[in-house]
Amino acid sequence: MSSSRILILGAGFGGVSAALTLDRVAKRHPEIEVVLIDEHDFHQVNADLYEVGTAFFREHIDQAERFRILKQKTVCIPIARILHGKRVHFLKDTVTGTDANTRVVELKDHGRVAFDALIIALGSEANDFGIPGIREYGFTFKTIDDALNLRAHIQNQLAWAKTCAVNERDCHLRFLIGGGGFTGVELAPEIHRLLRHLAPLYDIDPSQIEIRIIEAGPDILLGIDPSVTRIAHSRLKKLGIHVALNTKITEERLKEVRTLQGEEANTLVSQTLIWTAGVRPASVLSRSHGLTLDKGGRVVVDSSLSARADGRVFAIGDNAVVEGVGKIAASAYGAIEQGKIAAHNAFAKLTDGKVRHFHVSPTIFVVPMGGKWAVAKVGKFVFAGYFAWFMKRMIEFHYFVSILPFFEACRRFFVESRIVTQND
Ligand SMILES: Cc1cc2nc3c(=O)[nH]c(=O)nc-3n(C[C@H](O)[C@H](O)[C@H](O)COP(=O)(O)OP(=O)(O)OC[C@H]3O[C@@H](n4cnc5c(N)ncnc54)[C@H](O)[C@@H]3O)c2cc1C
Repeated sequence: MSSSRILILGAGFGGVSAALTLDRVAKRHPEIEVVLIDEHDFHQVNADLYEVGTAFFREHIDQAERFRILKQKTVCIPIARILHGKRVHFLKDTVTGTDANTRVVELKDHGRVAFDALIIALGSEANDFGIPGIREYGFTFKTIDDALNLRAHIQNQLAWAKTCAVNERDCHLRFLIGGGGFTGVELAPEIHRLLRHLAPLYDIDPSQIEIRIIEAGPDILLGIDPSVTRIAHSRLKKLGIHVALNTKITEERLKEVRTLQGEEANTLVSQTLIWTAGVRPASVLSRSHGLTLDKGGRVVVDSSLSARADGRVFAIGDNAVVEGVGKIAASAYGAIEQGKIAAHNAFAKLTDGKVRHFHVSPTIFVVPMGGKWAVAKVGKFVFAGYFAWFMKRMIEFHYFVSILPFFEACRRFFVESRIVTQND
């Protein structure tokens, strides 16, 4: 029996979903080897990253210990735990290129690896749109290290504000968030919460602290139900978080951020700009051969998620744009669904099975906005408050159970919940 190999690039939401699906569907096909490749040996659950970036520990523990706990017990799940007992192999390496014509993937350490079918799920990275200074002085918010850096920086700003001259305080006590999308709108109330806990420890009056979301478009959470946006605005107002709409960030310097609202240029002194305004697909895609990319850099796929007529290369999640389907918001849920379909179709290609197609299904979304409070939309229904927050926790619990053994999922979920809700 001749053997064949399916490679999955990226162990995020889409990649893990594809790997676990292949483990099931290819169970009776030992001739099919499945290999999952990622540059990290953990799977990052992004939806709780803002909790890590703003985590507050009631117990007095030093920063190194705090960061070790946050890294190991919250959003990073070891891939070895997910794949324990499965027939999927894991390779820790960085993908440096793919060639769909010769069916080869290039890896930084392991060199060239051949495939019979390929699933590309490398996710996205921050995009500063070339705005000067953001890369040098701004904070991106995509990875666990970004979240830990931000957490350390926020506390350092209070330490500086306590000791600096009065006229320099604004610079340390003004926290700017570039982008009023999901990430910005979730992060701002959590930062507010953290600062409320930290300020008394540094003898700082919380009323001196300013948090501001700067959004280039006409509204926050653009494209979402207007009633959700309305509720989000009133929540931000209640917390004292400023929102500047139709305002572009034009430049960041060491201690200031420049903006443009219409014709009006403004300079805000601040040492903190968290850039959540843009993402683009993993840049390695632009160095790949044999794929068609749209102008945003995503791989164009058909409804079977196949990127080529030969039906051997699939792209999913943040890496894919499905022809004939309008713009769909990047989401973990979408990546998971696409991971399942791509896995079935990769297996079908090697076994002459039936091809499945992707259909957009209505998504549920929940926007947590500080404390045990969120706004959610399920179908036509919009609701806000504790129940929406609880629903988010349940969605996450369901996800843990879908990728980990039941008792491990419960243990992890409860430990994580205890740690990340300490400032709620
Ligand atoms: C802060 C934040 C909060 C979010 N909150 C939500 C939410 O609440 N709900 C929701 O639905 N969506 C949320 N999202 C969006 C969601 O996380 C993404 O849409 C989803 O992760 C896309 O899945 P993916 O499989 O395409 O990519 P990812 O899950 O990003 O996985 C990509 C994987 O590829 C790996 N990788 C990248 N480049 C390389 C390389 N060159 N070599 C090897 N490995 C590589 C990465 O390490 C990663 O493991 C959030 C995103 C962020 C950043």
